[in-house]
Amino acid sequence: AAACTETDDAAPQDAVLLDRGIIGSAEVAGEIPELSRLSGAREDHVGVALCGIDGEILGAGNGREHAFPVQSISKAFAYGAAIDLHGMEHVDSVVDEEPTGEEFNALSLDPHTKKPKNPLVNIGAIRTHAMLGAEQSERTQRLRAVLDAAAGRPLELHRETFEEELGTADRNLALAYMLRAAGSMEEDAAEVVGGYVEGCAVLTTVTDLAVMAATLASGGTNPLTGERVFSRVAARQVLSVMMTCGMYDNAGDWVSDVGLPAKSGVGGGIIAALPSRFGVASYAPQLDLHGNSVRGTLFFERFSADFALHLLDGV
Ligand code: GLN
Repeated sequence: AAACTETDDAAPQDAVLLDRGIIGSAEVAGEIPELSRLSGAREDHVGVALCGIDGEILGAGNGREHAFPVQSISKAFAYGAAIDLHGMEHVDSVVDEEPTGEEFNALSLDPHTKKPKNPLVNIGAIRTHAMLGAEQSERTQRLRAVLDAAAGRPLELHRETFEEELGTADRNLALAYMLRAAGSMEEDAAEVVGGYVEGCAVLTTVTDLAVMAATLASGGTNPLTGERVFSRVAARQVLSVMMTCGMYDNAGDWVSDVGLPAKSGVGGGIIAALPSRFGVASYAPQLDLHGNSVRGTLFFERFSADFALHLLDGV
């Protein structure tokens, strides 16, 4: 918790933000910053939380209580749910596990296998979502149930974000239709995108995210409720893919500088896990050019360095 000192200490100077390529309101994925404002995000919001696998929770920051859309962090949990539903082998035959080095909403479809490159970019998450049940209602219910179980409480849907994003989903619809055109998805494109977008619009606080990350760190069991949310195999696989693909086209830098499996969302959240120890999360809504939280990234760099948490620090 020493690294989680109060907000002003944690907030970097504007020059640092500029240096990191902090962006104006219209530059990431067009509509997304508007969406984060819909849920009341403030530019000066910062929050961090840590949840041990024994269930102990620590937190700091003026944004600690604020609920914001989980966005792409839901992708990691959809992937775990798909693995537990269908088994690793089948999921692997449908969605690959290769880093893309591309933007989160890129058309990352392997030209030979026609598989999305990984489940943590939009196209892979849309394909993963289609695996969560035979019908739209079953798929969304399953995803919502897994998010709730990982957080240890029922999470609300932010209707405005959901509807706004549904109304501006051309890019995600295009990705879904590309999957169908490639013969890689049979389900109705609009229905699958609807369910995927609903998962993105679920509201979480930074504490919820820390508990969700701790559920992965513990090998699939929620440390607060004791509920097994994922099999150990699924938790391990989700964390493996987070390690290489969770931060989009910044994944390489992240592995070097932070060295923990992580996942970001354009709502401003980032989760990371130290296996068998704890889950940790940050929230700060301003995003860099990759769509990752600027202050969250700075927090994790410092947190990992101060406590020597990089998984390879033992060398
Ligand atoms: N809902 C967003 C989208 O589909 C999620 C993107 C993200 O968080 N990186 O574009």
